[in-house]
Amino acid sequence: MRCPFCQHADSRVIDSRDVDEGKATRRRRSCPECGRRFTTVEEAVLAVVKRSGVTEPFLRDKVVRGVRRACQGRDVGEDALQHLAHRVEETIRASGAAEVPSNEVGLAILGPLRELDEVAYLRFASVYRSFSSIEDFEKEIADLRKPAPG
Ligand SMILES: [Zn+2]
Repeated sequence: MRCPFCQHADSRVIDSRDVDEGKATRRRRSCPECGRRFTTVEEAVLAVVKRSGVTEPFLRDKVVRGVRRACQGRDVGEDALQHLAHRVEETIRASGAAEVPSNEVGLAILGPLRELDEVAYLRFASVYRSFSSIEDFEKEIADLRKPAPG
């Protein structure tokens, strides 16, 4: 690992510990050249495969941004968005796959978003499921009106 201070090509690990319930490893490093210390965090990458076939890292922030757009004008706080993104990540990580198609990320958003705000859910679903007619909307709204199972 290159030193971020002097750009020396190598560094020495002086401490290593698991963080975030073992999901990541934090390493304390020391530069043999300038003697400065810095920290790195190593985490298994969860990749999202877009429809184009391009993969990109899963980012909670991206989920938050997408959902925030659907929540415009709704009474949904930043905490709720963060919490939702966290749940989405948990759902995806629980699948155990290292790569997930982007539509599965969308699917994982729909459930918690529906619990959070039905209008935002409809907005998000209309884009995600590409509703093409008023009937699609009516069907979705009818489903929303059904009492929750259990
Ligand atoms: Zn250095």
